Amino acid sequence: MKIAIIGAGLGGVTAATGLHLTGHDVTLHERAPELRETGTGVVVMPNGLAALDTLGLAGPLREHVMPTAQGGLRDRKGRPLLVTDAVKAQERYGPTVVVDRAVLHRALRARLPLDRVRTGTPVDDLASVTADAVVVADGINSRLRARLFPGHPGTRRTGRLDLRGTLPRPPGVDDLLTAILIDRHSGAMFGLFPLGADRLYWFTDAAMPATVPAAEEAREGMARLMADWHPAVPALLRATAGPDIHVDPISRLARPLDSYTKGTVALLGDAAHGMTPDLGQGASQAFEDAAALVRHLKGAGPEEAAERLRRYDAERRPRANRIMLASSRQSRLTTLTGPGAWLRDAMLRATPPPLAARRLAAIWLT
Ligand SMILES: Cc1cc2nc3c(=O)[nH]c(=O)nc-3n(C[C@H](O)[C@H](O)[C@H](O)COP(=O)(O)OP(=O)(O)OC[C@H]3O[C@@H](n4cnc5c(N)ncnc54)[C@H](O)[C@@H]3O)c2cc1C
Repeated sequence: MKIAIIGAGLGGVTAATGLHLTGHDVTLHERAPELRETGTGVVVMPNGLAALDTLGLAGPLREHVMPTAQGGLRDRKGRPLLVTDAVKAQERYGPTVVVDRAVLHRALRARLPLDRVRTGTPVDDLASVTADAVVVADGINSRLRARLFPGHPGTRRTGRLDLRGTLPRPPGVDDLLTAILIDRHSGAMFGLFPLGADRLYWFTDAAMPATVPAAEEAREGMARLMADWHPAVPALLRATAGPDIHVDPISRLARPLDSYTKGTVALLGDAAHGMTPDLGQGASQAFEDAAALVRHLKGAGPEEAAERLRRYDAERRPRANRIMLASSRQSRLTTLTGPGAWLRDAMLRATPPPLAARRLAAIWLT
């Protein structure tokens, strides 16, 4: 089948590569003048890695498996709140990967021939595309989604601002690796992950100021907010070079879509289920979409396209929409302040590690 994919983010390149490898005549259209993924690290959860495995694309990522450090959820000083048994969890559910976004993007598109890609080619109207099936993967602010489903309200800002950064790994931070620190006073969050052997990836999440600040100003504001946290936190923020900091006001779909398909057009990735990053599932869900799409379209001819895409929608929408809503719930839980946050911390401390691992696994298991 002749298949057009619109958008070459992590979801679009994965779908394009998978569809190409199963024999379809694929064209990948990207608005940007070159193929690339910018910025920092990304966590790929066991379910995302399993989906990539079914497409034969997980191999190069195995060298980025996250160490089984006892990170877990901590308070702002770095004291444990919820400890998951990382060793057992990896043995049971498979590894988690932390990888530079650009490295991941290159690995996912390595087997897609360049003549299948049209960069500098925005598609804002599907009438301009000739194909038997179209995959819309143009991200959370998808214009094509708005055209296909005009009754959908689009995205909504959550009132949170996220900063992400990478820097060379200094000594003395090992005890914080893979930990996520949450703070019941400010409702802010800080996470720290190794990026390969010699770099670190950190992220913060806090209430959004009145306007979106530039990187340096955002970093300074965050370092001030976190001045009395574990001493490594403000030190790492201040040690990160301005160009290595990304600032994102967080949005999500205002409500789940009632369908991911319309005729021979299917939505995939953030275009279909843009969610808050709180469960680290956005990219993994896009990989699950790509794996399901490739499986349902395998061996299909043009006349079967609409029916096969309906099956894709039936498989993917309930699960991805559920995870989208769970991410928003997780966001509300981790950003609590006041008595609610005190209660949350008490409950986290009382949760046995195996139960914590089982709750996470409910999301990982497909
Ligand atoms: C702060 C933050 C941290 C995150 N951390 C994680 C994490 O650790 N783990 C995780 O799994 N997920 C994470 N996510 C989510 C993850 O980044 C996204 O879910 C994922 O990148 C979505 O990929 P996508 O391909 O669907 O969309 P995008 O990456 O947005 O790609 C869309 C592509 O379409 C192109 N495009 C747009 N419009 C057009 C057009 N009209 N024509 C042609 N091309 C077009 C764009 O240029 C872009 O290349 C995080 C998100 C944020 C904001």
